Amino acid sequence: MVYLMVLGTHSLRHRFGLAHYYALVGGVTAVMSWVTDAGIAVHLGGVTFVVGSTVFYTSLLLGVFVVYVFDGLRATRIIISTVIGVSIMVPLIALVLNFQMKLSGVPALGYVPSPSLRINIASVFATFMDLVFLAIAWEYLNNRFQRIPMGIRAFLALLGVMWLDVLLFATGAFAGTGQWLSIIQGTALSRLIVSCFAAPILWAYLSWQNHRWGTQITQRPVLAILRQFAQIKEELTQAQQEIERRKQAEAALRESEERLRTLASTDALTGLANRRRFWQVAGSELQRAKRYSTDLAVIMMDVDKFKKVNDTFGHDVGDQVLRELARIGLEKVRSFDLFARVGGEEFAFILPESSLQDAGKTAERLRTAVETQAVTVGHHQVRITISLGVAALEPGMDQMEELYKAADLALYRAKQDGRNSVRVYQGNDDGLS
Ligand code: GH3
Ligand code: MG
Ligand code: MG
Repeated sequence: MVYLMVLGTHSLRHRFGLAHYYALVGGVTAVMSWVTDAGIAVHLGGVTFVVGSTVFYTSLLLGVFVVYVFDGLRATRIIISTVIGVSIMVPLIALVLNFQMKLSGVPALGYVPSPSLRINIASVFATFMDLVFLAIAWEYLNNRFQRIPMGIRAFLALLGVMWLDVLLFATGAFAGTGQWLSIIQGTALSRLIVSCFAAPILWAYLSWQNHRWGTQITQRPVLAILRQFAQIKEELTQAQQEIERRKQAEAALRESEERLRTLASTDALTGLANRRRFWQVAGSELQRAKRYSTDLAVIMMDVDKFKKVNDTFGHDVGDQVLRELARIGLEKVRSFDLFARVGGEEFAFILPESSLQDAGKTAERLRTAVETQAVTVGHHQVRITISLGVAALEPGMDQMEELYKAADLALYRAKQDGRNSVRVYQGNDDGLS
């Protein structure tokens, strides 16, 4: 009756869908788990039939078997997880009930058997292996033994899985208890008898459904699922590699953009900021100084009689001197000051938060440093001097160009006054000092 109930429900799937069927198989699993723990037996005419596990276990196998054959991968996954999930859940519920009874002092109900951890673990593991084995056995028989009638194939698959279950379950649950061998013998025999009884029913159902719906009886559920997993994994790996490649390409692009930006604002000879960068920084520093009413100073610097250096030592030595001058200049200013090469041998500093007086001192330090350090290029000792002009932001100035021009005017005065000197712009032409 249980077999017929399971197969009958399955046959209605085209009308009602598979959900009811999953529920039924879950229920059968729960009952199976429970009667296994309870050890329910029936005595008839002096013979003891262990009703429990065999009947429900066999109907469970039939139930999963027909899903393999007719319903495809998704249904196979659902039915396997239903069976495994329920066979884990039922003993947990029994455990909780028993615990509750113990706490409340009510005498234990015999019908809620206390689950054995070992038996249940063996049962879940064996059931899972059985279901996998069933699918593989069925596929193997179908591929290799097409000539054998389908009924025999169904019988063999069924008997195979039954015996595997006996071996796995009895060994897992009872090995080392002394009863083990006799349990294996007894159940192996009884399952042979059950298979002889169940296989014709299975065969009849398969033939009927196959005839009615024309389904191919050669699906390969478990292997197909494994293949699907392998495929998904492969696709994932490829996607990850692709992401990695793109990341690297993006990083390289960012790096070259960064390099381009640096190149665009750097002077190639000295590595200082170039004229373009000078005017960018000048603009933002002027705004900042105006907004926060802070000081801002500019120093202009020009090498004295540089043409002579070139004429005497050659252009390459001249270049080297300019590099050395850049190094000295960087040493003498603060990290947030800007030092730029704005012309051939003309340089400019932007000094945020520096008063005219501070900037004048800085300029003087620069002048002394250059004057006292001979630049050694190869075997040449080159001595140079510089002239500097200093100006600071004043209330009337709205443009950076005005400040720049003021510093340039001061520089002009320094040159006029004999070079190797610093001049500070004091508000008007006459005020230069
Ligand atoms: P002063 O400024 O004291 O009036 O005399 P000066 O000889 O330095 O005159 P000026 O500033 O007019 O001359 C600039 C010279 O600097 C012209 C050129 O030969 C040289 N010069 C400009 N750029 C470079 C460069 O990149 N490398 C080298 N080696 N020389 C340069
Ligand atoms: Mg010069
Ligand atoms: Mg010059």
